[in-house]
Amino acid sequence: MIDFDIFEKETLKIDGFDDAIIGYGEQHSKQPLLVYSYSKICEILRERDGMTWEEADEFAQFNIANAWVGDRTPMILYNEYWHEWKDEPEMWTHYCPVEETEMEIAKGEECNWCGATEDCDWKDNESSS
Ligand SMILES: [Zn+2]
Repeated sequence: MIDFDIFEKETLKIDGFDDAIIGYGEQHSKQPLLVYSYSKICEILRERDGMTWEEADEFAQFNIANAWVGDRTPMILYNEYWHEWKDEPEMWTHYCPVEETEMEIAKGEECNWCGATEDCDWKDNESSS
């Protein structure tokens, strides 16, 4: 664990998001900055405040990532995990009898070809030939 106490007095924090701190960053001759994981910030907003991913994303962009509070403004890290859920909505796998192939369909959407939904997929009844 990193001892954050040495920074606390002089380093700015984002109130209520300690769990999203993943480390600190240093640049020569500059004061160290706390580094927050963007995906963890969104996770906290989602779990603590009951937001959807979209709401959390919007809130975090507007209120956190866009806030400049001086030279020691915390740094926000966008990692691979963030891209994963940002770019790709959750998918469910569907074997489509119309297209005769397995395809990925976004959660909550139905198959464009046969109209199957995740809850009502033919595959549930063993469609192997
Ligand atoms: Zn289908």
